[in-house]
Amino acid sequence: MGAGAAGLIALRHVQEDPDLDGCIFEQTNSVGGIWKYIDKTGNDEYGIPIHSTAYKGLRTNLPKEIMGYLDYKFPESQHSYINHEEVLNYFKKFVSSYDLMGKIHFTTRVTNVQPNLVNEQPSWKVITEDLTTKSTSEHFFDSIMVCNGHYTKSYIPNITDLKAFQGEIFHSRDYRTPDIFSGKRVIVLGAGPSAIDISIELAEFASKVILSCKQPNYAMPNKISIHSPIVSTKENSFITATGDEVECDVLLLCSGYVYDFPFLSPDCGITVEKGKYVYPLYRHMINAMFPTMLLVGIPFTVCPFPQFDIQIRYFLKVLKGELTLPSKDEMLQEIKDEEQTRLENKVPFNHSHKFGDRQWEYNVQLAEEAGFLDLIQPVVKKVYDRAGVRRVDDPANYKYDHMMAIHSVYIVSKSG
Ligand code: FAD
Repeated sequence: MGAGAAGLIALRHVQEDPDLDGCIFEQTNSVGGIWKYIDKTGNDEYGIPIHSTAYKGLRTNLPKEIMGYLDYKFPESQHSYINHEEVLNYFKKFVSSYDLMGKIHFTTRVTNVQPNLVNEQPSWKVITEDLTTKSTSEHFFDSIMVCNGHYTKSYIPNITDLKAFQGEIFHSRDYRTPDIFSGKRVIVLGAGPSAIDISIELAEFASKVILSCKQPNYAMPNKISIHSPIVSTKENSFITATGDEVECDVLLLCSGYVYDFPFLSPDCGITVEKGKYVYPLYRHMINAMFPTMLLVGIPFTVCPFPQFDIQIRYFLKVLKGELTLPSKDEMLQEIKDEEQTRLENKVPFNHSHKFGDRQWEYNVQLAEEAGFLDLIQPVVKKVYDRAGVRRVDDPANYKYDHMMAIHSVYIVSKSG
């Protein structure tokens, strides 16, 4: 389900395998998921919350040279950091290259998924709603890949007395263009890529931009001032953790998103704790209760498209019986052991699925077990790391580095 980056690569692999058949249910009328920019915020014409949280000026925060699927690269172009339209075009070209269009049911929303427990390996009953006619249908599948995206339902942090604030409060999911903040004093809360990008865009329009975050390790332009996180609220200002009072007109929450699977019936066995931990997922992806269900793209702080591709290739090997998973009890034990290790290492709960540097080992492990290690290019890590350093050193300009900068790293690394 879902025709974003994850769903499309899933459908391609299914279509390419003569033993498999499948389709996508997609609630919008387009492929591309969050990369299909929509001016509007709020609900769409069918009353469904707008899925895409892309903003008008969005460019990728990873160089396109490492962003593509394992064996389907982005076309050459002048820039490494491309805009949302160019990413969308990549998906459109992908769909036509693999002739996927006929297998995607658009404006078809999955409203319920439940295991059909006739034997040990359940089939899945999926209920969909055709948003144009409002009619519902029932479908049965041997397996389901959940590719609904994890950047749509906002996470609202707990800030004391937030209601007391008389100014405007936005979440970045509803941010589209900076001009509506002209002349205003804006506090941007967060330290992720969106908080950084949006602060930089806003600085051209707002009278004042204050970035409120825990570890401002980015070298932000001078016109953006940095404060520690806000902890309490007054009518026209916020108090920060270090006791400063910061006056402002707008609070822009770049506080991220929560995992959300409203269509999974409780029988599926999946729970989401505090919006940040999906349980019980073997290798952060396979439903340990019913291993014919895959939840794609749960890890974050990763290079997403190649990892989706890796997860799906691995899962299909399992489905076809070419790779055997441990028993349910063993999978549950491994999940519990990982939880324990995170506790011992004092990993914050909301980082349960945060990978960062761990992604490379994870990718290699899956690829090795499933027999496609030759598709993993070690150079990707080098470019990813190098791009990360540039992002921190010069967040206002790194996206405009000429692609040669990236290419040179690529070529140098490739030749050892
Ligand atoms: P999505 O793109 O969200 O697609 C999910 C699809 O599922 C949507 O089409 C949706 O309509 C559909 N869907 C959801 N629920 C239902 C339902 N009930 N029934 C039917 N269909 C449903 N990644 C990068 O690699 N590089 C970047 O530079 C980058 N920048 C980003 C910037 C922003 C602002 C955000 C939010 C994310 C960024 N990402 C970036 C991460 C990005 O989310 C992933 O790259 C990737 O696009 C996610 O793909 P997805 O298929 O998992 O989810």
